[in-house]
Amino acid sequence: MGKSRKEQIQKGHTVIKSNCNGSSDILNKKEIIIKGIGASPGICIGKAYIVDREGVNLIKRYPILEAEIPFEINRFKNAVKRASDEHAYIIDSLNSYLSDQLDILEAHLALFKDKMLYQKTIDTIKTDKINAEWALKKVVRQVKLMFMKVSDPYLKSRVTDIVQVSEQVMRNLIGAQDIKISDINKRVILVAHDLSPADTSQIQLELIKGFVTDLGGRDSHTGIIAKALGIPAVMGLGNATHKVENDDIVIVDGLSGLLIVNPEEDTLFAYEERGSLYEIQRAIRARESHLPATTLDGTTFELMANIELVEEVVSVRDNGAKGIGLFRTEFLYIDLKRFPSEEELFEKYKEVVELLAPMSVTFRTLDIHGDKVLPYMAANIDEENPALGLRAIRFCLKRPEIFITQIKAIFRAAAFGNIKLLIPMISCVEEIISVKQIIKLAIDELKEEQKLFNGDIPLGIMIEVPSAVIIAEELANHVDFFSIGTNDLIQYSMAIDRRNRQVAHLYNPMNPAVIRMIKMVVDAAHSKNIGVAMCGEMAGEPFNLPVLMGLGLTELSMNPMAIPVIREMVTRLDTNETKEFVNRVIQMGQVSEIVTLVNEQYGKVLSD
Ligand code: PEP
Ligand code: MG
Repeated sequence: MGKSRKEQIQKGHTVIKSNCNGSSDILNKKEIIIKGIGASPGICIGKAYIVDREGVNLIKRYPILEAEIPFEINRFKNAVKRASDEHAYIIDSLNSYLSDQLDILEAHLALFKDKMLYQKTIDTIKTDKINAEWALKKVVRQVKLMFMKVSDPYLKSRVTDIVQVSEQVMRNLIGAQDIKISDINKRVILVAHDLSPADTSQIQLELIKGFVTDLGGRDSHTGIIAKALGIPAVMGLGNATHKVENDDIVIVDGLSGLLIVNPEEDTLFAYEERGSLYEIQRAIRARESHLPATTLDGTTFELMANIELVEEVVSVRDNGAKGIGLFRTEFLYIDLKRFPSEEELFEKYKEVVELLAPMSVTFRTLDIHGDKVLPYMAANIDEENPALGLRAIRFCLKRPEIFITQIKAIFRAAAFGNIKLLIPMISCVEEIISVKQIIKLAIDELKEEQKLFNGDIPLGIMIEVPSAVIIAEELANHVDFFSIGTNDLIQYSMAIDRRNRQVAHLYNPMNPAVIRMIKMVVDAAHSKNIGVAMCGEMAGEPFNLPVLMGLGLTELSMNPMAIPVIREMVTRLDTNETKEFVNRVIQMGQVSEIVTLVNEQYGKVLSD
């Protein structure tokens, strides 16, 4: 691998495929290295499986009322906009030497608003009073029929373009739930334009070695799930789906954020070694992870796990977590494809609690929408800015019947173990007051129904909106603990969409604004004598630990796989020293200054 990356991207190589797939064919394939964002560490090598949205062909027709026509047209327009934005984004990220491809894509971009497709679909929704998907399908069929008899090759290729563009719109119309990841029955690496958290949670670990996506940024929910599953992932690759073909051999380097397509023999060899080394280190750390996380000066840290699915409980135990600091309960709702009943939730929650007893489990109530849209709700929620919309507690307070069902299930499970209740995205005191009213109703109903329950459990809130930081002292008067959700706190305070690759360079937990906000929250919690933990991804990154320790945090919740490394680092640090260190950090105004200081003072511990 002696050449520069650029050279490798532009220069073709011959790959002897017998190294990896058993065939002795020598195929002329170029080794391509694409830089993305490492979303989940680790290395995997295998055959590419391009995630195609087959569901585009499975859509249904349904009639709509006259009054619903504007809504349906709007839905179509939004889908066109999203599809063309995604398309424009791919064009932006294409390398200029791919000029042919660029030309095609630019021509496609113009087609999104092509009269034949755009206006005709709108007209069909109006005249036929049918859903947008069916109207689009009908229009595309008409276009195909119209061009069938044409012999001119230019016009023939135009119809292909229209079909491709319409499929992009259709995918946006029907959402991502049509991807059949759970049906894949061979060992592969997924290559997708985008994977939603719902798609990712369908991944079967014994089959999917890792995945890469064109879209996505740091700490997106999709990346978080990949970390939790312990599979390597690289996101934000821009146009990987255009460069990889089914069955190409690919290497996913989640440590450096690279995708290597059709690797040369040398590259393969080097990566096989790197991969094994990484696995050995991981195994050694996992073995020691059950020892306490105690600093040099004798402070013991509570290292907890973030989980999304009941199945991850094994990983919680294996990695030495002291409990679950964040159970993202929304994934049960996503998987079920409908709102679960109180009984179904209770059974699942009880199972987790009993499996982990006497350790505590912090159930975060439903945090849906934003980037976690429930497929069965997608049609009802049409928001310009979903991250700023009816997400998390806002949704729950709007739909109290759904919220109360979940609270009752949690309280019932609390009769069987140690549970804490955590409310996401609180932005004002009024919301906590409303939550408490619902809690009271839940308790009244459970009493009336004479069910076994425990409603007397600690109540906490996530601090992930800047307003909550500013009024942290007020909020502390109403709850038992805070859990700092830095994934969203960074997103909302710095105005960085956590899924957007274009702004991912700004997303840095070492930003002085982020560090100062954490200080405000920790100080407020300490002054009011309530608990404070951190459960954002920031807590699981070794680089951030000296700062977090110096700010006074002693409870950190992270994806279970991160615990062994963080534990080891905790045992090498001294809280008094990190406090003095943070006094210097807090004076600094730039990320680069802070990063340099961390490296100067803790570089040795980090590199070890
Ligand atoms: C966070 O925002 O930091 C967090 C832990 O919640 P989620 O990632 O589920 O939004
Ligand atoms: Mg959050």
